[in-house]
Amino acid sequence: MSAVTDVMVIGAGPAGLAAAVALSAAGAKTQLLERKPYVGGRAYSYPHPALGEVIDSQHVLLGCCTNLLDLCRLSGADNYLRWYEEIPFLEPGGRVTRLRGGTSPMASLGFLRAPMLEFSDKLAIVRGLTEFLNGKPQSDDVSFASWLKRTKQTERAIKHFWEPILIATLNDTFERCSMRYAGKVFHEAFVRSAEGGRMAVPTEPLSNFFGRIASLAEQQGTDLQLRASVERLERVDGLWQASLSDGTHRVAERVVLALPFEQAAKLVPLRGVEHFVHAPITTIHLWFDRNVSEYDQCALLDTRIQWLFDKSRIRGLEQQGSYIELVISASFQELEMGREEILNSAITELRSFLPKMNQAKIVKSGILKEARATFSVVPGLDAYRPQQESGAGLYLAGDWTDTGWPSTMEGGVRSGRLAAGAILGRSCMAAELPAEGIVRLLERQ
Ligand SMILES: Cc1cc2nc3c(=O)[nH]c(=O)nc-3n(C[C@H](O)[C@H](O)[C@H](O)COP(=O)(O)OP(=O)(O)OC[C@H]3O[C@@H](n4cnc5c(N)ncnc54)[C@H](O)[C@@H]3O)c2cc1C
Repeated sequence: MSAVTDVMVIGAGPAGLAAAVALSAAGAKTQLLERKPYVGGRAYSYPHPALGEVIDSQHVLLGCCTNLLDLCRLSGADNYLRWYEEIPFLEPGGRVTRLRGGTSPMASLGFLRAPMLEFSDKLAIVRGLTEFLNGKPQSDDVSFASWLKRTKQTERAIKHFWEPILIATLNDTFERCSMRYAGKVFHEAFVRSAEGGRMAVPTEPLSNFFGRIASLAEQQGTDLQLRASVERLERVDGLWQASLSDGTHRVAERVVLALPFEQAAKLVPLRGVEHFVHAPITTIHLWFDRNVSEYDQCALLDTRIQWLFDKSRIRGLEQQGSYIELVISASFQELEMGREEILNSAITELRSFLPKMNQAKIVKSGILKEARATFSVVPGLDAYRPQQESGAGLYLAGDWTDTGWPSTMEGGVRSGRLAAGAILGRSCMAAELPAEGIVRLLERQ
């Protein structure tokens, strides 16, 4: 029989790393098993052999991601975050609207000057946002599509405001996004506090970034094992035994299963797992022989591409030309398309935003299709998101469990900390940001 650990955490994505840090900090003998050769889970980076580059799908976080930020501060990863005070929204032809990150429209009404919106669009948006002053909607049964209809949002308000923000954050079509989570995004990022809506990106490849959090767990005594794929999990003599693909076993009193729902369901029976669905993200990576963009990051309007990241600027590699990443969220259409088709369409669209591209040469390119990028917060899903404590020493973590958050790194970290808190018998959660202005007054009532 292998040595018994207090807690075995399976999966070293944001959820498993957060659980391992909290548990080992509290002195629990913790083992962290990860099947890949790197940490970070879906927030991963890897050296692409053919491109000769380390690539990842750029991840974004906001000031309201208090638990992820706390974990970054504890591990020093916060030194590898770049914060942005504004998000440029580009229209084809080059017109730019700068939306200040963390600007509460209720407070500054700064976005009322946005040229990408007409007066009637702005009125509709303000009318919509006032519904989120009191927090997120209570029910998760209504879709965002029906809310847009009820609040009579204009076509331009939808295309130039609700759509770019919501598709980038919830990664699905409006019919498949519950109003509760759409409301949460706008409440946290636009209404509750200025800090909550500030945006940041990691400035180094994601597995290096999450590697800092893994190092903290290891310094605290966590036994991290990479290339350790758990194939079976069972109760043996009152303990949990994990059987690994290399034929070895690990044994622990408690298990935190920090896996995506479809992987967790392979190891333990899960009620209601059939209600969860995935949504894809496709990223297009382009290397140019010279600098082609003026922005580290910007939203692109009236195109299939939602977001542009200039990774050479973000990673501080500008002297080597431009490495541009384009993000297509909810990329169901692209899943069916071939590489050349995706590439040609993206390059054609990009030319209308970046005139400097006409003088530049594309040196190399790559496409990353993530069919299972996120789970969708479809209306009614909350009834099936399980709590972390499952009984008999089994704890479920992962962004899909009951956290009140959509499929995000923050959701993952929260789930890991909730699982650790249930084991330790005390809260491991960071404080929420304080509400500001009118929202603070409303929260006091
Ligand atoms: C392209 C893309 C873009 C995204 N953009 C953003 C963004 O901008 N902002 C944001 O907040 N979120 C974003 N996300 C979502 C974010 O990555 C996830 O919500 C987050 O990683 C979930 O963390 P997790 O720990 O719950 O699960 P995961 O990250 O999936 O981690 C689970 C881990 O378990 C491991 N594992 C699985 N099975 C086994 C097994 N049998 N044995 C051992 N280990 C196993 C996996 O290898 C993995 O490392 C994006 C995701 C993708 C794919």
